[in-house]
Amino acid sequence: MAHVYDMVIIGGGPGGYSAALYAARAGLDVVVLEKLSAGGQMALTHQVDNYPGFPEGIDGFTLGMQMQEGAERFGAKTEYAEVESLDLLSDPKRIETSEGTFYGKTVVYAAGAGPRKLGLPEEESLIGRGVNYCAACDGMFYKGRTVVVVGGGNSAVADALLLSRVADKVILVHRRDSLRAEKIYNKALEEADNLEFRWNSAVVELLRQEKLSGVKLKDVKTGEESIVSCDGLFVSIGRRPNTDMLKGQVCLDSQGYVSAGESCRTNIPGVFAVGDVRTKALRQIVTAAADGAVAVHYAEEYLAGLQ
Ligand code: NAP
Repeated sequence: MAHVYDMVIIGGGPGGYSAALYAARAGLDVVVLEKLSAGGQMALTHQVDNYPGFPEGIDGFTLGMQMQEGAERFGAKTEYAEVESLDLLSDPKRIETSEGTFYGKTVVYAAGAGPRKLGLPEEESLIGRGVNYCAACDGMFYKGRTVVVVGGGNSAVADALLLSRVADKVILVHRRDSLRAEKIYNKALEEADNLEFRWNSAVVELLRQEKLSGVKLKDVKTGEESIVSCDGLFVSIGRRPNTDMLKGQVCLDSQGYVSAGESCRTNIPGVFAVGDVRTKALRQIVTAAADGAVAVHYAEEYLAGLQ
């Protein structure tokens, strides 16, 4: 007979490991399926200053490892496996992975989000050849070079500032005439003298030889086009949830997020969505961690036959 866990958690970010901690402390037999390493998107964050309890801040990778250790102290297991498909309507629920099949009485889906892409023809083939989605991971390759950052939110601004400390020149391209990023960044933006802005501009073409050699910009107001030579492009235009494998089983909203309210319950009994995959107002480490705790509360009710 195959082993059936009380809870299988898909994704080892803050939502997943918070659920694992609460489940393990509640005496549930719980496994986290993680394809890479603990922390999820958080692991790529250079400095986390908005998760309480760390007065000096902490890097996201270390915080992820500590969340994993905290859950494992109470008996949660971690299996390094890539989930390939799910049957959430079967009993028990079945999860097919690169390392075999896992069964769970409940499933907590905590697979997070990935970078949103520009959708330009050459984009995929230039990944690793000038096109990047993570300044904290790949910024160091552009020491002394010229880079373009696309976007106008907190991520784009944080990336542009990080890159301004490494690159020779940073050009921030945004399709509006003002940023949507928080004002806390304003002073640093003013002080970064190698950072320039291209407002009301969209990247419409990636120029290449073997690698990226530049971008073509279009002024969204006048239609005027211009060429900017650069060595690297950082696309920082938000994220999209990793929910493709839920389609056809779990209700998703129009943006692809799981339609689960504050209880984290999905339309399928015993299946919960936590963290950035869920429809919510604020996607942060602290809200993902809170979701993990809430999901386990309702999973315990489900396992006790109360739902
Ligand atoms: P975001 O806030 O959704 O901003 C995305 C930006 O990209 C917007 O300026 C948007 O333009 C632009 N954009 C979207 N699609 C585009 C496209 N196809 N072409 C060009 N531009 C496009 O995403 P985010 O900056 O990644 O932030 C995500 C969440 O993480 C937010 O809640 C944010 O506050 C949080 N975050 C927090 C911190 C921090 O606390 N320090 C750091 C990073 C991220 P429009 O303005 O025209 O829509």
